[in-house]
Amino acid sequence: MITIDTISPESNDYKLTMLNVNQGDSLLFETPQREAVLIDTGGTLHKPGEKVKHNIAKKRVLPTLRRHGVKKIKYLIITHPHVDHMGELNYLINAMNIENLIINQQSFQKNQINLLKKQCKQHSVKILDFKMIPYFFLSQAKFNLLDTTIQTSEDLNEQSIVTLIEYKDIKILLMGDASTKNEFELVKKYNIGKIDILKVGHHGSKTSTSDNFINIIKPHISLISVGKSNLYNLPNIEIIKRLQQAHSNTYMTSQSGEVTITLKRHLIINGQRQ
Ligand SMILES: [Zn+2]
Ligand SMILES: [Zn+2]
Repeated sequence: MITIDTISPESNDYKLTMLNVNQGDSLLFETPQREAVLIDTGGTLHKPGEKVKHNIAKKRVLPTLRRHGVKKIKYLIITHPHVDHMGELNYLINAMNIENLIINQQSFQKNQINLLKKQCKQHSVKILDFKMIPYFFLSQAKFNLLDTTIQTSEDLNEQSIVTLIEYKDIKILLMGDASTKNEFELVKKYNIGKIDILKVGHHGSKTSTSDNFINIIKPHISLISVGKSNLYNLPNIEIIKRLQQAHSNTYMTSQSGEVTITLKRHLIINGQRQ
């Protein structure tokens, strides 16, 4: 059952929020005690020489964290090193109290990782490689970090960390920019079954969300983080149709803005349905 509601962010429940970071990804999971996990930071592509303004962090990420009463990020997961997923990382390390940073170390370039390590040391942020921690708990919510990476691929999207959150009997699957190849691996390697909430891979691009995958996980709700009239013409219309055919209630940041789902016996959604 889905109820469209305008709940206040301070309510005493576990919540998942898809932030409105234009073309990019950033998701917040929080407990009633305001313990928080952030998955990706959003970020904007800049032309060489252009001044980086960090407007996504300043105008979207930090205000949302403030509004939700989140003072510390216990875990920040960077799914993969593309600017629309980690562009605001440097800024957030300076601006926020972050305890742990989870990355796929292999997907980073050497100079990139060295710089990150230095910065994390300065701010007492612990860097963890996702391959070393198959799961962790945030109060009663279990975060499974699934390794579906394609070793032979040079496409960084295919190095995405896939996160499966289990809270009570609710299952949330966050795909990063993972492709259909990763989906194939996921199904082969892990018995994930039906999913309540899917953060659709790669902003609804045709590279992800195969027919086969959707038929297996049958997502009750699908979330697509995508910029209004973006350069890439995302989401792909075929993917939207595919989700509709699977009776998945689909929400996009380009139309609904920020979407918060309260994880109760039934899910309460704050956002406009497409
Ligand atoms: Zn992306
Ligand atoms: Zn990407």
